[in-house]
Amino acid sequence: MSQLRVPGPTPCPPEVLKAMGWQMVNHRGPEYHEMITEVTENLKKVFQTKSDVLLLTGSGTGGLEAGVVNTMSPGDKVLSVSMGVFGDRWANIAKTFGADVVNLKFEWGKAADPDVIKKAINDNPGVKTVMVTHNETSTGVTNDMKAIAKVVKDAGKLLVVDSISGMGSLPLPVDEWKIDVAISGSQKGWMVPPGMAMVSVSEAGWKAREAAKMPNFYWDFARAKKSYDEKKENPWTPAISVVYAFKVALEMMMKEGIENIFKRHERIGNLIREGMKAFGLPLFADPTHASNTVTSVSIPESLDGKKFRQILREKYKVVVAGGQQTLDGKIFRIGHLGMVTEKDVKEILSAIEKTLPEAGFKK
Ligand SMILES: *Cc1c(COP(=O)(O)O)cnc(C)c1O
Repeated sequence: MSQLRVPGPTPCPPEVLKAMGWQMVNHRGPEYHEMITEVTENLKKVFQTKSDVLLLTGSGTGGLEAGVVNTMSPGDKVLSVSMGVFGDRWANIAKTFGADVVNLKFEWGKAADPDVIKKAINDNPGVKTVMVTHNETSTGVTNDMKAIAKVVKDAGKLLVVDSISGMGSLPLPVDEWKIDVAISGSQKGWMVPPGMAMVSVSEAGWKAREAAKMPNFYWDFARAKKSYDEKKENPWTPAISVVYAFKVALEMMMKEGIENIFKRHERIGNLIREGMKAFGLPLFADPTHASNTVTSVSIPESLDGKKFRQILREKYKVVVAGGQQTLDGKIFRIGHLGMVTEKDVKEILSAIEKTLPEAGFKK
């Protein structure tokens, strides 16, 4: 079996794969009602929220679009805080739907600076909403969401957060940090296949929903809430097999305990980074904000990055990701989120160590 170590999709435990093979049920019937209630209640524990968590069928980007169209009106001034590919994509979505986007961009590999965000909010008094990426998967950087949330909420703005590759692996207590909309995706830290986005909505988030005038139908949070509250259903046919997978994966997560899951990701992030340093490979992300779910490694002069990933994949059965956009050929990325153990890290590091000289690397 190969080690799939890209930052999503991530490997699924055998129990979860088995659940994916369960026979279909009526998504308007009692078995489904029971299952979606259990999944939603467990998701709330991971999101650490007493507000609503909605299950939307679609990929993470669908969740990002939903986060935009449910909280904004065309012409609304919104501050996009971006430090990579996914932040830029999200700004683009908001722009596509007619938001007046103020772009605040940070150097790729660096985290967003809360003081600079504070200044940007002060300099742009019309801003209603702030969009922030919690964990930028393209660069392997985790923002200090607690500090960022504080400046945004102290200023009285709506805070919408892309935590697609963070939530479930990194702490993001939605209620405590007052995050209005937090978005995740099933195929990242959840040990579940692709197919669903999960979104929490605060009280202020629901007020924004009422005021929002961007066109939406499929992604309408209000329809999703009504359907869940009144019937324990989704407005449209959900990805039922992904809900099965969630049921089992969340049971496993509850058993491990979310604090233990966060600690495991921290330990594993450290082990991966230490391993890279020991090989003499430079880390791309600012070490003070290095992500514990994805590690970005700069490709040194002597290393043929393409050959490296090919040998690693074909000979040693470890699949890692390349860089995106301007980082293509400059970095490779190791995903270590969801189902990942210290034993996996040993295998990954051992495979990389063997591959490096074969792909030309000289220390
Ligand atoms: C994966 C990811 C996305 C996109 O999710 P898709 O499921 O591919 O649409 C967006 N933002 C971040 C931070 C991600 O890691």
